[in-house]
Amino acid sequence: MGVIDEVKQRTDIVEVISQYASLKKAGRTFRALCPFHSEKHPSFFVYPEQQSWHCFGACNTGGDAFSFVMKKEGIDFGEALRLLAQKAGVTVPSRFEPEAGKEERERLYQVNQAAAQYFHNLLLNSPLAEKARDYFTRRGLSPKTITDFQLGFSPNSWGALEQYLLERGYTGSELLTMGLVIEAEGGKTHDRFRNKLMFPIADVRGRIVGFGARVFDDSQPKYLNSPQTLVFDKSSCLYGINLAAAAIRQQNLAVIVEGYMDVITAHQNGFTNVVASMGTSVTEKQISILKRLTRGMIFALDADAAGEEATLRAVGYENTLEAEVRVIVLPEGKDPDDVIKEDAKIWQNLLEEALPIVDYTFNMVTSGLDLNTANGKSLAVDKLLPILAEMKDTIRRVHYLQKLARLVKVSQRDIEVALGRIKPGRGKRWAKQPDREPAAQAPHPLMSSPVEEYCLALLLQHPELRSRDEGLSPEYFESSENREILTAWQRAKGLSSLKDRLDSAIWEHLDSLITRSLPANQIEQKYTNCVLRLREKLLRSLEVKKAEVLALEAELGGTAAELAKLEEQGIEVSVQLGEVFTQKSRGRQEPRR
Ligand SMILES: [Zn+2]
Repeated sequence: MGVIDEVKQRTDIVEVISQYASLKKAGRTFRALCPFHSEKHPSFFVYPEQQSWHCFGACNTGGDAFSFVMKKEGIDFGEALRLLAQKAGVTVPSRFEPEAGKEERERLYQVNQAAAQYFHNLLLNSPLAEKARDYFTRRGLSPKTITDFQLGFSPNSWGALEQYLLERGYTGSELLTMGLVIEAEGGKTHDRFRNKLMFPIADVRGRIVGFGARVFDDSQPKYLNSPQTLVFDKSSCLYGINLAAAAIRQQNLAVIVEGYMDVITAHQNGFTNVVASMGTSVTEKQISILKRLTRGMIFALDADAAGEEATLRAVGYENTLEAEVRVIVLPEGKDPDDVIKEDAKIWQNLLEEALPIVDYTFNMVTSGLDLNTANGKSLAVDKLLPILAEMKDTIRRVHYLQKLARLVKVSQRDIEVALGRIKPGRGKRWAKQPDREPAAQAPHPLMSSPVEEYCLALLLQHPELRSRDEGLSPEYFESSENREILTAWQRAKGLSSLKDRLDSAIWEHLDSLITRSLPANQIEQKYTNCVLRLREKLLRSLEVKKAEVLALEAELGGTAAELAKLEEQGIEVSVQLGEVFTQKSRGRQEPRR
């Protein structure tokens, strides 16, 4: 995942816009007086589900979080990206030196490697590490496992690691950059990790990118990680991936657990295709790392959180992976570490009986319902249909549609009709329970736009399309970075000058479009179709948004009569809206109900 996607994933448009406008929740949307034009009656709407905004009043325009910030702050895409990145805690490569940092990065891996070696040696040899050795022995780890995972111990000292690394020629600023030392008040520095068990975290190539640290006792916080650095980003790390990659490829299966100790115990017991997610939810980045090794994945879910996790994430994982994801649910109160230690056979059985995540979700949802009652049926459909709507794979969607129809004993046709009523646009998102408030800190779903990207790839790779005027406009694209590329392409003469017109943060995305493999024939026709699809997509999504707004207006403002009249006159929805908002802004007396 590129830096742009990452910023998107961590940015909530509602949060961003609420810094500029006072948003009020209205149904599934938020509304406000438009921050771009003057009005008395709010015609500006934010759609959390699509992570987009639209002004139906004088502006009659919309976009995503980037375009909002660009318009509001009067800045370009690169500046908006950096502004949002900063808020989201994402590092964006400098605009002027995209290639910079390669050598620097190599040095940083080396610093980490040296630190890992230092912690590891202490664990093996130092009298100070007695307690740490006891801990690992108590947890049943063999000397080989301790070596394989390069486990370590950080002494209870403020400067031991710093001194050790400085003596080996690393600079103070390198140690700071890697978060191995912390700068305190007055510029004094000290070691970050003190008196902890150390778990070096490696990337798939075995380079140490950061550290996880754990206390010995019950003191808090129990875990301490390296901060986000140039080479460490928790959301793109999988603990144990360096040791598991070969087995994952060989067995064509990855098992994803939560904790360091779960991975370590699994490996020691011969389950070497196990990695940990570094947090509760698996990110899209992590899936794409695994995707290079296998399409087979099993998630080990906590008994407590399993249901919700599966319901929320089921389809998101599958759409990213483009394959079926399976789950196992751990016995209440136990993690894989416990299960495997108790009896490796139980773990083996769990894996063998892993259920496809969508089937598991079906079971979870229906287990508490009486599917013979109308109420039970309707609840089951309400909860499961949105999940089906998200599925990109048609065959799989139909399969589960049939399953749902059988379960609730309703004709497949009726279920299809209900499915059709779920608004378009939802399909791009991770599954979400409709009545659930979005979790405050959860990363945002990634909204990739396959048609937009396909269309751009065609344009970029086939200069002959330049002369065709299909009326493609940047407005057709929902993603600001795609708008940027199209605008630059329309102005640039060729690919080389195109890059100069774009912020370096977009280059990675641009390169992926330029190198994407495309069908070889009927390019012109494909391009025409593509533009048509984009136009249709735009119009549809606008219609849906408008319909929603009209419904709200009717409900809130008592303008039903007005609306009905306009509709009767056959006036187009957008015009209807424009009239409604203009009238309201003029402060015209509203007709009484
Ligand atoms: Zn406006």
